[in-house]
Amino acid sequence: MGRGRWIAAGVAGALSTLPLFIGNRIVRKPAPVVEEPERLPAYWMDTIPELPRFRPLDENINVDVAVVGGGFTGLAIGYYLKRFDPSLRVAVLEAQRFGSGSSSRNSGGAPNYFRGHGQTEEAQRGYDLLRQFCIDNGLDVELEEQAPMITLHRHQDTATDPFLTGDALRSELNSPYYDAAVSGISNRLHPGKLIAGLIEANRQAGVELYEHSPIVQVQPGKPVWLHTAANRVIAGQVALATNAYTPGMGFAADRMFALHHRVIVTRPLTDDEWDASRLEQFPYRLEHGTFYTHTTRRTADRRLFFRHLLGHRAYERTDWTFTADDIAYGQESLLRRYPWAEGIPIDYEWHGVTARTRDRWPVAGQIDEGVSIAAGFNGNGVMATHYFGHILAHQMLGKSHQDMGMLSPASEHPAVPPELARSIGMQAWLALERKRDG
Ligand SMILES: Cc1cc2nc3c(=O)[nH]c(=O)nc-3n(C[C@H](O)[C@H](O)[C@H](O)COP(=O)(O)OP(=O)(O)OC[C@H]3O[C@@H](n4cnc5c(N)ncnc54)[C@H](O)[C@@H]3O)c2cc1C
Repeated sequence: MGRGRWIAAGVAGALSTLPLFIGNRIVRKPAPVVEEPERLPAYWMDTIPELPRFRPLDENINVDVAVVGGGFTGLAIGYYLKRFDPSLRVAVLEAQRFGSGSSSRNSGGAPNYFRGHGQTEEAQRGYDLLRQFCIDNGLDVELEEQAPMITLHRHQDTATDPFLTGDALRSELNSPYYDAAVSGISNRLHPGKLIAGLIEANRQAGVELYEHSPIVQVQPGKPVWLHTAANRVIAGQVALATNAYTPGMGFAADRMFALHHRVIVTRPLTDDEWDASRLEQFPYRLEHGTFYTHTTRRTADRRLFFRHLLGHRAYERTDWTFTADDIAYGQESLLRRYPWAEGIPIDYEWHGVTARTRDRWPVAGQIDEGVSIAAGFNGNGVMATHYFGHILAHQMLGKSHQDMGMLSPASEHPAVPPELARSIGMQAWLALERKRDG
């Protein structure tokens, strides 16, 4: 192809992604979490007793450690800091309700591996710690230790030997879509129950918990100053546990990017629908793709849970308003895989955001004077958040940890391209994924 044709093809390619910038995807500046509307509770929060409410920060406080963000990560850090040194004054400050971020909006896979890094001894230690935390705190998080099925649309996409292929798989799974299935590694749990247990463990340990207290400014130093709209926190140390919201706060913005997802949960299935779903036999299915584009699982009350990827928003915005196109894409994706689900009412629908790093490893460790971070869990944080929180708590207290070497601050991660190149690249990549998905 001549030079002119290459240029024409490049321009055509870039132009073809432009429609994807319409509506949801165009913004000029990042919106901090304070501007986000109140997140609606996901199914997981609706199926547990109502969580306790905590007062917003309505005074200035001085603490030994302040943790920003009250999801799995922040609550693990707060809990372990206070457990290791009960004399510390520790506060966790959450912008909305505790657990209202990704920690209650996920698929509840509890992997004993780190994304992209396999099933290592370190990962097993992390998983064992999470399980022990549940035992120590008397939590029933509906942990089901059963390997998932990794489903593939195209057999050739796997290097691993499938245990089911072609017509045999389609018949077993009652799905015309898939061509191969390999065994996965991961267990699953009820994320809402884990959040409830973490909140209670923090409360009992004596951690101060503040909701509806978004931090609008972080001033690193000795001490660190944090500001809400009306008050300030002076802290000896600060841990940022804000995952996908971190770039919006001005930290690690060149090391991670956000991916948005939509989850739908049907009403409980009838006996016939349940038989057709094969969710009894194959209760947890991850779909192979660059981003694990779809997840299917059952819930304890026999609903179909289905997650699909939505895309990326410029400048790492963390909110998303569903468009008609998003809903149509989700419905098409669902019915292409599970035609038997046609007409089954959807009881729950929500949006969630994950934080990706290019090397798929979390950004964790000290990031500035007095400021540490644990974020960028690559959509794989149910176990990893807890373990990285545990390790970071050790580091902040100057204690040794067998797996301290797992912490890697932002400078050790490959950079992501700056805006707008990043957004254009992401839209093109995601459009390609959708095309392959078809
Ligand atoms: C749809 C979906 C499916 C997923 N499925 C799985 C799965 O099956 N298995 C798995 O292991 N992982 C999964 N994940 C990923 C997992 O949910 C996350 O890695 C994990 O919840 C991250 O926890 P976190 O505490 O770091 O972040 P979050 O839970 O997002 O908590 C961060 C908190 O920080 C708060 N915050 C932000 N800015 C501020 C501020 N300025 N001041 C104060 N607070 C602030 C936010 O309100 C939020 O509550 C999934 C994620 C999504 C979205």
